[in-house]
Amino acid sequence: MEKGDTLCFTQFPVTGFITTHSADNLVTCSAAAATALASGEKTKNGMLNFSPDSKRKLLPISKTLHQKGFSVGIATSVSIDHATPAGFYAHSTSRSDYYDIAKQLTVSGFEFFGGSGFLQPEPAGFVSIFKLLKDNHYTVSTSMQQCSESQSIKNVLVQPQGKSAKQLPFAIYKDKTDFTLPQITQLGIEKLYALEKPFFFMVEGGLIDWAAHDNLTKELYGEVKEFSEAIKVALNFYEQHTEDTLIIVTSDHETGGIFAVTKGIRFYSKDHTGNIVPLFAIGKGAENFSGLHDNTQISKKILELTP
Ligand SMILES: [Zn+2]
Repeated sequence: MEKGDTLCFTQFPVTGFITTHSADNLVTCSAAAATALASGEKTKNGMLNFSPDSKRKLLPISKTLHQKGFSVGIATSVSIDHATPAGFYAHSTSRSDYYDIAKQLTVSGFEFFGGSGFLQPEPAGFVSIFKLLKDNHYTVSTSMQQCSESQSIKNVLVQPQGKSAKQLPFAIYKDKTDFTLPQITQLGIEKLYALEKPFFFMVEGGLIDWAAHDNLTKELYGEVKEFSEAIKVALNFYEQHTEDTLIIVTSDHETGGIFAVTKGIRFYSKDHTGNIVPLFAIGKGAENFSGLHDNTQISKKILELTP
């Protein structure tokens, strides 16, 4: 991203803001934020789709829509069992129970998952996540082409062995053997659309957060640009299906306490902040998302728009 570059989603016709605090903290973590965005209820930092007292499971919008007959896809530039993607398919009182979270993915029935891999695919004494995926009729691919050619209804795309399961490389360091978030987004849309049902697709630019945690300016710019390219892919789909497509772009929280200063940007934190975050929307029902909302309102508003 250079000075003067525009991000495609900032041109969307509807803009809004959302508040992001969790049930127990002004500054949310990604697990509590994903829970609020997906399930429409606040929880404590560190928890995924459980009520703050850990007693009640919360239902993410992705599961509600899947039960209604939608196909569902989840993609990220980090591992698929990380807090944000996990918030759309798993329940856990601890976001770091990666094996248990991934195990829930294998029985989710969702049709597409894409990301770098799994953090704990085979802890000693437990059945491999890859075996469980196979048992549940998922095809696991390690390249775009392989996944594209897969005839399975349910697909998982991860980086091949030798590459990190933890994250895709930062966009500015990628080489030709690496796949990108825009490519995963394109593939996910193709796979979901081919199933000939309405679909819900959550795509996370997870590395934006990671670059901001480490206050890495160049890497952050590269990731935001990459995220914008992924949104462009969705926008292309929207342009061919304007009647019944809604795209919402927002953030689970701000990271880095970033301020624009005359020489570029400056970080005031290495952590998340409690700042409100922007939201951009285009398409069917987009006008419902303008103005200020709490993060718990977003999934409710999407559900109001679905039959
Ligand atoms: Zn973070």
